[in-house]
Amino acid sequence: MMDVDFEPEDSDFEDEPAPKGIGIVQRCTGKSTRLCGDEEIPAVVQSILPEGYTYHACRIDNFSQNDEVSFSAIIRLNLRSHQDFNKWLENFQESSSTTWRVKRTFPSTGLKVVFKKAYRCHHNTRPGKGSTNAGRRVASKNTNCSADMIVSIKKAVYEGRTLSRSKDTHLPQYPAELLLNYRHNHQITCADALKFRDVSEETKEVLISLFKRKYGPTQAVEMIKYDLQLRHGANYHMKAADRAVCPDVQFAHR
Ligand SMILES: [Zn+2]
Ligand SMILES: [Zn+2]
Repeated sequence: MMDVDFEPEDSDFEDEPAPKGIGIVQRCTGKSTRLCGDEEIPAVVQSILPEGYTYHACRIDNFSQNDEVSFSAIIRLNLRSHQDFNKWLENFQESSSTTWRVKRTFPSTGLKVVFKKAYRCHHNTRPGKGSTNAGRRVASKNTNCSADMIVSIKKAVYEGRTLSRSKDTHLPQYPAELLLNYRHNHQITCADALKFRDVSEETKEVLISLFKRKYGPTQAVEMIKYDLQLRHGANYHMKAADRAVCPDVQFAHR
């Protein structure tokens, strides 16, 4: 049986297209269906996946302990386009309280794969840059986290008809394949990690609507905090520390 390599690659090539068919992705997209164990997704893993999608796990190695979710998996899901994936990723960042950055883009591979991209946890900033930033925000955020994921979306229909000769038995139901290495080396839901998250689109819209109603930045943030307090009660302190739903006043100034 062939091992799927989840080792992170050197991440010093952010946004640079990689040569076609490089290492890990080529091996996984080609062979993973043969490895399909049709495994049950543990509840702890399901708890961080966005709802409203159909998931199928070819393989899951679950390392979760208590509340700390940790696993690596080959997951198939019903996403058909780049747009579908972006929406899923936005939801995933919400449901898992994690933030992902593009690690590598791949040239469009055309006939069989319509979209492929690699992402890394944002607690891994580029190597070599943190050292000169001692004491600054960037330095404390970087934990060299090796969590990463690679998504490939396969074409389910080719020239108007189903790819009947495809060896991929997960088509046409699950065009997207996600190699998810969800093994963070830091806490995810502690207030320290949440404060680095991006302010979510939803929160941005609330801010904008408050500005239209003549709220200043400080007042607007106070309003959002007040609303969070009403909605989350005992969980308020966790929510208020999460920059995605509770922006800082500096952000509101932008
Ligand atoms: Zn499978
Ligand atoms: Zn991480």
